[in-house]
Amino acid sequence: MRPLIAGNWKMHGTLREAVALAEAVQAGAAGLPADLLICPPFVHIPALAAMAGRTVALGAQDCHAAAKGAHTGDTSAAMLRDIGATHVILGHSERRADHGETDAVVQAKVKAALAAGLVPVVCVGETEAQRLAGEAEAVVRRQLAESLPDDFAGIIAYEPVWAIGTGRTPTEADIAAIHATIRDSLVARFGAAGQGTHILYGGSMKPGNAKAILALANVDGGLVGGASLVAADFLAIAAAA
Ligand code: 13P
Repeated sequence: MRPLIAGNWKMHGTLREAVALAEAVQAGAAGLPADLLICPPFVHIPALAAMAGRTVALGAQDCHAAAKGAHTGDTSAAMLRDIGATHVILGHSERRADHGETDAVVQAKVKAALAAGLVPVVCVGETEAQRLAGEAEAVVRRQLAESLPDDFAGIIAYEPVWAIGTGRTPTEADIAAIHATIRDSLVARFGAAGQGTHILYGGSMKPGNAKAILALANVDGGLVGGASLVAADFLAIAAAA
């Protein structure tokens, strides 16, 4: 399948910086061997959606599980769709940690995203303690089982929590093993659709390690944090796909 390189900008950037970064990514997007997705903070989505000639897909970093209601400070999936997002990252470990999001909450958000016509990018991944205890595969299997609804259609991102923003990555063999586990789970539950589901790797992906990681079986792209804030690095990762 054609790789997808996604940028999770997290909580970075003024409006001017966001527009400049998106324009630089857009300027380098032609001819790459991967599709591109950028996920800026909510507030920058309308400006980026309005960019002329945009070929880079646009996503958000979260949505609420409810379609509307008394949820101060929250944003619904339909609102995101309305302002031009097509994707939404859900269940990122920073949301699980900072906002207490459980697998059940993530599943409710995935359902809301699907109902609104957004493509969910569902994040799973073990903590360092879980990896050291030999539980990485079991944790990821459980997160998939409990975070995905039966009608799931979307993208999975494997992001080992201990590799996010640390400059550390699992070995290539460990990445391949977890991605194979994820593929097995998806195929067992969703059949042929599971075979065609993108499984992205995320966690300290950089131009220097992207080629080796993206060449692994069942690695269908990347979810890039820090390096997605530098257009040249983000584009270099996509060029390595
Ligand atoms: P880094 O690429 O900064 O490690 O972040 C990965 C990530 O969390 C993407 O969602």
